Amino acid sequence: MTATAPRDEQLWSRCAGCASLLYRKRLRRNLDVCPECGEHARLGAPERLRQLVDPGSLRPLPDQLPEADPIDFVDVLPYRHRLTGARASTGLAEGVVCATATIGGHPVALAVMDFRFLGGSLGCAVGELITRAAERALDDRIPLVLVTASGGARMQEGALSLMQMASVSQAIAALREAGLLTVSVLTDPTYGGVAASFATNTDLVLAESGARMGFAGPRVIRQTTGRALPEGFQTADFLLRHGQVDMVVQRRSLRGRLVALLAATRAGRPARTPVPRQELASRHERLADDGAAHPRPAGPPVAAPTPGDPPAVRDAWDTVRMARHPGRPTTLDYLDSVFDGFVELHGDRLGADCPAVVGGVARLAGRHVMVIGHQKGHTTAELVARNFGMASPAGHRKALRLMRLAARLGLPVVTLVDTPGADPGVSAEEQGQAAAIAENILTLTVLPTPVLAVITGEGGSGGALALAVADRVLMLENAVYSVISPEGCAAILWPDRSAAPQAARALRLTAPDLCRLGVVDEVVSEPPTAAHDDPAETARRLRAALLANLLPLLDVPPAMLVRLRRQRFRRFGAYRTGARAGRR
Ligand SMILES: [Zn+2]
Repeated sequence: MTATAPRDEQLWSRCAGCASLLYRKRLRRNLDVCPECGEHARLGAPERLRQLVDPGSLRPLPDQLPEADPIDFVDVLPYRHRLTGARASTGLAEGVVCATATIGGHPVALAVMDFRFLGGSLGCAVGELITRAAERALDDRIPLVLVTASGGARMQEGALSLMQMASVSQAIAALREAGLLTVSVLTDPTYGGVAASFATNTDLVLAESGARMGFAGPRVIRQTTGRALPEGFQTADFLLRHGQVDMVVQRRSLRGRLVALLAATRAGRPARTPVPRQELASRHERLADDGAAHPRPAGPPVAAPTPGDPPAVRDAWDTVRMARHPGRPTTLDYLDSVFDGFVELHGDRLGADCPAVVGGVARLAGRHVMVIGHQKGHTTAELVARNFGMASPAGHRKALRLMRLAARLGLPVVTLVDTPGADPGVSAEEQGQAAAIAENILTLTVLPTPVLAVITGEGGSGGALALAVADRVLMLENAVYSVISPEGCAAILWPDRSAAPQAARALRLTAPDLCRLGVVDEVVSEPPTAAHDDPAETARRLRAALLANLLPLLDVPPAMLVRLRRQRFRRFGAYRTGARAGRR
């Protein structure tokens, strides 16, 4: 709703749907739904909470976190200035408001995102606050209700934003294990990293009327496919038709629906031995409070630059181009050179086999492992046949099937990540790309078998993370791993895509940078020229690094592995400014 004139702005609003001039108080009484055309205006988090919870029951959870600018991000404006502006214009500390309350008498923990705050983007603080709300739900043994509104992961915090998809997802996984209901309410708009994690890996997904949700935004899909989008694409009704949400709900009915669902699950919960609170608490590492004190992994094996050092590594943009080099070894090349006896397994068992993801059983120095990786190609024909390594939902579901199979068979999982991103196409959205990625991320946080991930080329956003929630994450020296492509970032934060080289530098997407941030555990050095110039030597080094990292994991009991893996991802929320960002 836009105001008609500054003087009247408190009194009148113009409907974004039908352009009717509406008396503001009347509109508010109607829950900000236009009485003329039914348009649901976007709500800020405080107003949303007022509409949903029982009067007087709201208990806000603490929202003050240390100032975070973990990668010292600057585009045309420093990130800190953008944060200050968002706080001033919304009156909120961050892009989410969390609380406990009752809804129709049922106690719940809530996390409500606010799109007005930097587009509802998911950064470290937002991830941390939502995770804490989920932990509160677990402690109190109450359901968790998430109301999402987000453009996706917050690119100003680089790959650390991406890690939030994993940390919130594992908190959701803990609620699943405890038999506690999780509900997400999709509101307009919900995209990117939020859609591909906690917006869709909850037990129930409700879409508010007028909400749009998807992994890729319509602009990106139009640009990629060069085609017009179908009528009503990604709208709530589209999502319902394609089996991606449980229901579409008018705002006036939303509270009532939540009450009914909360009541049903409360009454209908099967009798089970309650887990003692103490055990739950210990099971659920409370790292939030001692994030700073928590031991971080051993330092990176690459020399961290000290102040005054000349830049020792190649420019980030050159690394991006190296990571995309068509001669760079692919997953099938490594399966041939690093592993023995690869037997490929196909299919998602739901109707498709995605060529952009390959997987199967293989041997690594005589030990059986499950290998899953993105497959690109060296020629245009190969690249087209493999969809440039961009997995469809079927690819993610094939990977999911193989991960679960590996766990049942007691095989360690090795993933090789090389994708510009998940497939941003119309049919991918129809088939639930966001939910497919979200389920992989969640499943990897609970998989009771060792998982070792290697970023071998391009680690593109959520599509990369769908294979990279692991006990150890390795990265080839000239690979990149990023929350968004430099071109995409430049198009949004700079005037245009020609600023991609600057964006590449600002995003901290190189292996040494990510190692310093703790996103990556070890950099696998490439031959002096690069992987594509000496694939045999690259394979030899990768094999040595895989063995060195995998063998110690084989001795760790599965329950301990899962616990340590969760600690690894939980600590990203409590990220402290400058802690490891290699500030210079
Ligand atoms: Zn209207």
